[in-house]
Amino acid sequence: MQENIGSALTRAARFFGDHTALVDGSHRWTYRDLSARVESFNAALDELGLTPGDVVGVLTKNSRAHLVAWLGVPRYGRVLNEINTRLSPAEIAYIVDDSQTRVLLVGDDFLEMGRQIREDCPSVTALVYTGDGSCPPDCHDFEALLTGDRTPVIVAAGGDDTAGIFYTGGTTGRPKGVELTHANLVANAKHALISLGYTEHDVYLHAGPMFHLADGASTIALTWVGGTHVIIGGFERTLWLATVEHERVTQAMLVPTMVTMLLAEPLGDYDISSLKSVLYGASPMPVSLLRTAIDTLGCDWCQVYGMTEAAPIVTFLTHRDHRDGVTDATPQAQARLRSAGRPVVGVDVETRAHDGTVLPAGQVGEITVRGMNVMKGYLNNAEETATALVDGWFHTGDMGYLDDDGYLFVVDRLKDMIITGGENVYSTEVENALYRHPDVLEVAVFGTPDAQWGEVVTAAVVLRRSDAVSADDLQAHCRELVAGYKVPRLVHFVENGLPKSGAGKILKRNLRDQYSPV
Ligand code: ATP
Ligand code: MG
Repeated sequence: MQENIGSALTRAARFFGDHTALVDGSHRWTYRDLSARVESFNAALDELGLTPGDVVGVLTKNSRAHLVAWLGVPRYGRVLNEINTRLSPAEIAYIVDDSQTRVLLVGDDFLEMGRQIREDCPSVTALVYTGDGSCPPDCHDFEALLTGDRTPVIVAAGGDDTAGIFYTGGTTGRPKGVELTHANLVANAKHALISLGYTEHDVYLHAGPMFHLADGASTIALTWVGGTHVIIGGFERTLWLATVEHERVTQAMLVPTMVTMLLAEPLGDYDISSLKSVLYGASPMPVSLLRTAIDTLGCDWCQVYGMTEAAPIVTFLTHRDHRDGVTDATPQAQARLRSAGRPVVGVDVETRAHDGTVLPAGQVGEITVRGMNVMKGYLNNAEETATALVDGWFHTGDMGYLDDDGYLFVVDRLKDMIITGGENVYSTEVENALYRHPDVLEVAVFGTPDAQWGEVVTAAVVLRRSDAVSADDLQAHCRELVAGYKVPRLVHFVENGLPKSGAGKILKRNLRDQYSPV
């Protein structure tokens, strides 16, 4: 039998039918309710003329629409396109067009954008309104599509069929459409379950973006075991704390900036003792912040390293690793708190030299990944697919090394590594040195072309107070911490923050262009 991500819901409805599947504002559904609604939703997609292979896009803040779409759209062969709501309208239009999205689910904040896209992108034939108000006449009403006990056309789908198209963050170039199959997403959910050990007693708070694959992993994994999904529109400190208390939340996912916001003030009288574990990732968390977070929240922590192409989980720094990092003073346990952990069960990781040979422990190379979770390929881009997937190994474009026990240390992106006078400089190492200066608020280090050195190390720096320090001061500071050839030769002060992608990552490619000699 071919595995289908919708089977997670079939299992939950069968074994945990009366269990609360979803809490979203005043909506409280059991797994039986959720399953019936997903079936009606599929019948509605049939009525809208969507056949297997057709793409359904989701463009809305966190809501039950994401859960219905994740579990429902791929179930009978249609393809899910979860869109990053923080991208610019032009980027979103590109994604809708590139994926040939047919129907778009839009929430209140995206109604106007959805209408514009419907006008500009010929593939879009219908908008489904998922907002909180009454449905406008030019849209289909999501709530109405969920009711009526309609029966969908049953189509066998699964295995290597594409379940979703997910676009990469667009940090190093234009976002790429990643085709993930049912097998990829099912494998990823299993890998997550083995490490996270969710059960039907778990209550998971969706506060980070539900369009993100990291959240999608928990969406499928938790459904499989009949746990409860609690959804809030987005992260807001007091709402998060109040929801953890009120719904007795046991599991949550946060990105490092949310952790910073959470810890900005004392937690107050909220009872968050139900919280067992927080998953964080997408970028490493500064160890000092992690220590404060562990002390303050008192729960377990787990870091994920991954990427869209890996559906997304590659490694976990586990609860145990975090506990050891706090209680065990040995340099090894301390160092591991800076690592991304070890590959999850089912995923292999090797670091490789430029020619593809596998490197021994301790040597920095490109991180390559193999497993059932690794993508089918990039949509409409056979060339990039052929470069990225070699003999079943996905070449991540990240540089790193494994230690003797298999812990992965991510050092930089390949595209961000600087080669100056023949020496390799990892931009993140220089950034970390600059961040240790108290006047530095934000920094990006990158290479700019130079006739003599090939590239020179260049820094763009935002200060906490303008004119607080000079370029000379910062160079002297770096000289204390890193080798001379790593010290930025050029330092540019930037007033209004550094350019960022929709996912909030700094766009070094823009800075490189801006500060390269013409
Ligand atoms: P694009 O591929 O379009 O340039 P992107 O790589 O930022 O964008 P994503 O797939 O969303 O798009 O992000 C994955 C990348 O994020 C990884 O390849 C890695 O560089 C970074 N990353 C993810 N998790 C971690 C982590 N725990 N530690 C360090 N870096 C991480
Ligand atoms: Mg990438």
